[in-house]
Parts: sequence; structure tokens; C-alpha cells
Amino acid sequence: MRNLHRNMQTPLSLSPVEVSVVIPVYNEEDGLQALFDRLYPALDAMATSYEVIFINDGSADRSPQMLAAQYHKRPDVTRVILFNGNFGQHMAILAGFEHTRGRIVITLDADLQNPPEEIPRLVEKMREGHDYVGTIRRQRNDTAFRRYASRAMNRLRERITKIRMTDQGCMLRAYDRNVIDTINACREVNTFIPALAYTFSSNPIEIEVGHEQRHAGESKYSLYQLIRLNFDLVTGFSIVPLQWFSAIGTLLSISSAGLFVVLLVRRFILGSEVQGVFTLFALTFFLMGIMLFGIGLLGEYVGRIYQEVRDRPRYRIQAVLERDLGANDGMRGNPGNDLETASCER
Ligand code: UDP
Ligand code: MG
Repeated sequence: MRNLHRNMQTPLSLSPVEVSVVIPVYNEEDGLQALFDRLYPALDAMATSYEVIFINDGSADRSPQMLAAQYHKRPDVTRVILFNGNFGQHMAILAGFEHTRGRIVITLDADLQNPPEEIPRLVEKMREGHDYVGTIRRQRNDTAFRRYASRAMNRLRERITKIRMTDQGCMLRAYDRNVIDTINACREVNTFIPALAYTFSSNPIEIEVGHEQRHAGESKYSLYQLIRLNFDLVTGFSIVPLQWFSAIGTLLSISSAGLFVVLLVRRFILGSEVQGVFTLFALTFFLMGIMLFGIGLLGEYVGRIYQEVRDRPRYRIQAVLERDLGANDGMRGNPGNDLETASCER
């Protein structure tokens, strides 16, 4: 089951290119045309071989049709992977990775928050011999709350995991082929790609890039999803939280033992004391809070283990639009009627 989508993979050796650009797309119909208009000229200007891989992550709008149309416009450098459901940004990027052939692989958001014009700078750094180019947003154009929360989370993550990223949220990044191959060999379900890639890189570097406001549409991440993503980032890359928890448990046991001795001594010296009921309440609730937090934390890890042992395919590909080896436009899988009218004039 697991290798279902692998059968669709294009063997790397067949026609390698220098740069592969991977772009996940989820309900981006309002911004896609602007993306095409800026992305392709930026890549053409680099005068190197490249390919763009779009992954439609189960969009419910006209995004798949627009991607298919773009594929027909530039079949030489465009490939489109169509998911048959919404599996999330990181799963979409992973599927894209499995289809890349480039020596350098670049990820980019579809909403134009990452300017495509920055790609040549990333490629330049990779050519200098780095195997991972991370990015720092020069001036981040997100809401104040997101900037603040993201900075706090970043600091916590730096303490817990060994991953050093100044700006974890920016997806405009470049990875070397070897890093991508290692990521492709990983089968984990909930992951955070920039962090995963960082753990496999040997010569990483960070550069500053521009950041724009979303060109059109709204952020696809709700507050809840952002919290989940950050949990993935912490529990997916470290078991330090569990160790912290054991440490807190040990400290609390020692201090309650001390408190018990103090109370016992007071009982003999002062006789029975009935005051302090509310202090007792406060203490109990505090300890209960810590206990529940601990159970929740354990649950995070158990849940991850459960998802891993279940071993279900991480995503399902409905169709891949790509040029076949014989240079014919090709489509594999069943893209559905709607799309067929838009893209199948073969
Ligand atoms: N995205 C996706 N699947 C999802 C959510 C988002 O493929 O379930 C894509 C989305 O189309 C965009 C990128 O991931 O290209 C980043 O999403 P978004 O801009 O909404 O996130 P933000 O910039 O707010 O973090
Ligand atoms: Mg965005």
C-alpha cells in the first residue's frame, strides 16, 4: 500500500535539471495567475534548467483547472500533482519532493508571500556549496499576534530541539539533492519540513529575504492548526519535554515529602491545625493541572506513535500531469471530469 504513489515516480536519472521548485496549492485561485506571471520570468532569467512542481492539495476552487491550464502552457517545465483530498501543506511538499529531479530543490508558498525573484539568490548560495539555505524574513508581513507568537515559539523550540533556525516559518528555502533523498526515505506522518531538512544538512546557511503580504485570499491556517504545527515541531523532533516532565515530577515529590515532614513536626508541636483548607485546594489544583498537562503531553507522543504504527499512506495522488519521456504531454490517474475538459485536449 505504502508504495502506491512511488510507482508514479519519475526516475531521477532520466532527465535531471538543476533547479526544482515545489509549490503546494490549496484554494489559491485568486493569486495563482499573479504567481505564474512572476515565477516563470524569474526562473527563465536564471538561464538554467528548471522544473516547477505544483501540488494541488485538494482545493475546492478553480485552482486545479488553473494549474492544468498552466501545465499546458509550459509543459516543458511544469508538472502538476493532484491530490484527491486535503492532506496539508507539508504532505503536499513531501509528495512534490518525491517527484523532483533537480540538484537543488526550492520550496515556495503559492500566495506570493515569498517573492519568486529571490530564488536566484538561494540558487547562488547553493552553488557555493551549501546543502541547505534557510531564510529570514526581512520584514515580516503577518499579523502582530502571529509575529509575536511565532517568536516566542521559536525560542522555546530552540531550547527543546537542537534545530537552529532564526525564522522557522518562512517556507522559501533551498535543499540539496542529498537532503531531499534522505527526506524521501523518511516515512513519518506529521512533520515540519524545514526542521527535518535541517537535521540532515551538513553545511546550512541562512539568508535574509523579502516577505510580502498575501497577494490574495486568506491564510489557510487557523489558530488551532498553527498550534498543532508547533506541537509537531516540538514533539516530532525531541523527547526533551518528557524528560522535563520527569524532572518536574521528581522535584514535586521531593518538596511534598519536605512539606509532609514540616506538617508532621507542627502536628506534634502545635497540635491539630484546621486552617489552610484553601491553601490545600490551591495546591491540589496546581498539582492536578500539572498532572493533566503531563497526561496530555504523553498523549501527544502516544498519538504520534499510533499514527506511525498504523502505517497508512500519507496522501493519495489522483493524477499527475507531466510530460512523458517521449516528450508527449502525459496524464496519469483519473483527474475527474471537470479537470479533464480543462486539460485533456490530447
Ligand atoms: N497549503 C496547502 N494545504 C493546506 C494549507 C495550505 O497546500 O492545507 C498551502 C497554501 O496554498 C500556501 C502554503 O501552503 O501555498 C502556505 O499556506 P498559507 O499562506 O495559508 O500559510 P501562512 O502563510 O498563513 O502560514
Ligand atoms: Mg502565506
